[in-house]
Amino acid sequence: MSKVIAVFNQKGGVGKTTTNVNLSACLAKKGKKILVIDVDPQGNTTSGFGIDKNNVEVSVYDSLVDGVSLKEAVIDLNTENLFLVPSNVELAGAEIELTGRDERELILKKLVNEIKEDYDFIFIDCPPSLGLLTINSLVAADSVIIPIQCEYYALEGVSQLMDTIRLVKKSLNPTLEIEGVVLSMFDGRTNLSIQVVEEVKKFFKGKVYTTIIPRNVRLAEAPSYGVPIIDYDSKCKGAQAYMELADEFLEYLEDVI
Ligand code: ADP
Ligand code: MG
Repeated sequence: MSKVIAVFNQKGGVGKTTTNVNLSACLAKKGKKILVIDVDPQGNTTSGFGIDKNNVEVSVYDSLVDGVSLKEAVIDLNTENLFLVPSNVELAGAEIELTGRDERELILKKLVNEIKEDYDFIFIDCPPSLGLLTINSLVAADSVIIPIQCEYYALEGVSQLMDTIRLVKKSLNPTLEIEGVVLSMFDGRTNLSIQVVEEVKKFFKGKVYTTIIPRNVRLAEAPSYGVPIIDYDSKCKGAQAYMELADEFLEYLEDVI
């Protein structure tokens, strides 16, 4: 059985891409076959895996706009079990190009369904907006991982985020679930971070992962080397946290089944 997970929060800079790249890479190290689809025109997931986003031959844009199968867009990242459908700058125009299409919210879902069974998990990195690319991602997904940054405005925008998930559930994807909430960029030295954790746990009840991702400079450095944190510095706190998150993610799935 395979599962499609969108990493979603319409706020930018909360740790979506960092979570997507590193959770995927950790799960691949644990033997799960993973496909990551970069649906953000910024292409940070693509470059985070060391792929030059200005130089990709076939991208998710070609699939969404021209119907090229995702199979043709997949790049083998030469790391066991890890594959990527890259983004590139063209994707920024896709929202407009798709506006007039029939069933435009279902395009990614149909494409993903063709390849879904080839992987254990498919992770979709959403752009920081509530536009058509995000809606396509939420419609294609079985569940959502929501990264939340441990900062003062952590819960700002969360009601809008939940409204969007409810709307998608109601109209286009009734079985969409919240997989889990990941607290990121936690700074244990500040009361603020500790308060935010409490608030977020209260809001999302049992949905928050016990593993909290610390603020760790190695996590911010790794993308400039084009590798996930475990291949950059496997011993740092950030790498350990994402490995633990991968374990917790898998345990939680087993609990549910
Ligand atoms: P998003 O995809 O939600 O916009 P990113 O994952 O790109 O957010 O993170 C925003 C910035 O913060 C990036 O520069 C990233 O390297 C950095 N960052 C993310 N998580 C951490 C962390 N736990 N510790 C330190 N820096 C982080
Ligand atoms: Mg991002």
